[in-house]
Amino acid sequence: MRAFAHDRFTYPLPEGHRFPLGRYRMLREAIESAGLAEVVEAPPADDADLLLAHDPRYLERVVHGRLTDREQRALGLPWSPQLVERGRRSVGATLAAARDACVDGAAVNLGGGTHHAFAASGRGFCTFNDVAVAVRRLRGDGTVGRVLVVDLDVHQGDGTNALLGPDPLTTCAGINGGANYPFRRVPGDVEEDLPDGTGDDAYVEALGRLLPAALARGAPDLCVYLAGADPYEDDRLGRLAVTQAGLAERDRMVRDHMRAAGVPVCVLLAGGYGRRIEDTVAINLATVSSFAR
Ligand SMILES: [Zn+2]
Repeated sequence: MRAFAHDRFTYPLPEGHRFPLGRYRMLREAIESAGLAEVVEAPPADDADLLLAHDPRYLERVVHGRLTDREQRALGLPWSPQLVERGRRSVGATLAAARDACVDGAAVNLGGGTHHAFAASGRGFCTFNDVAVAVRRLRGDGTVGRVLVVDLDVHQGDGTNALLGPDPLTTCAGINGGANYPFRRVPGDVEEDLPDGTGDDAYVEALGRLLPAALARGAPDLCVYLAGADPYEDDRLGRLAVTQAGLAERDRMVRDHMRAAGVPVCVLLAGGYGRRIEDTVAINLATVSSFAR
């Protein structure tokens, strides 16, 4: 299996900023030393790719550093030229992984899953919406028809739901922390909200309902799986109480349901804010390892 990386494209953050940029490098090193996947540097998405999901005026303001202070606060990241390059690489990695999955059965972007980005705005650490770009690009070149997005990041995929919800060939499915960000939501097609403190058993039961319901809406040519590490019990932003074993079970369930249905899977890592960064990396490593087999 191939894993598309872009961790060498980094950007400056103020001292003490809560975004754990270091997790991506640690993960790539762990994958390489375990020989779990072939790690490939992803090419950047170009403007034509980004315009498949984004308003041209928004793209131009991002590229030229003209986001207002308010927009940068909503994004949660300060603008820099490197932020733009990293954003392009992150979308490029999702595009490459989605194409590769269609050929090989599974592929991973060692990042991505920027599901809070809307057509004309970014928020919640998400500048560009990689899933919407990839679905529209692969649809446009005839690689896929129907697509299933399974968003198991703990935060609801509001931007993706807004961009792809109106698309009759895309199903947006997700399990969310019901009391968590974003507080203004855009409904998906099949979703369940879980209360704060939900543990393994209730989480796995919810997923056992979600996956068959999502697949019943029509056989997809591709599943895009956002394997967020943030439903974890020791996540700073998660508010649920799923253990590492519970998250590994979640990954196996997604893998096994899609395998049984003959659906290739493009895996994206999405959020992960463990109190210990090593936990986030271990959760991501377990995800990659489930799909590498
Ligand atoms: Zn999240």
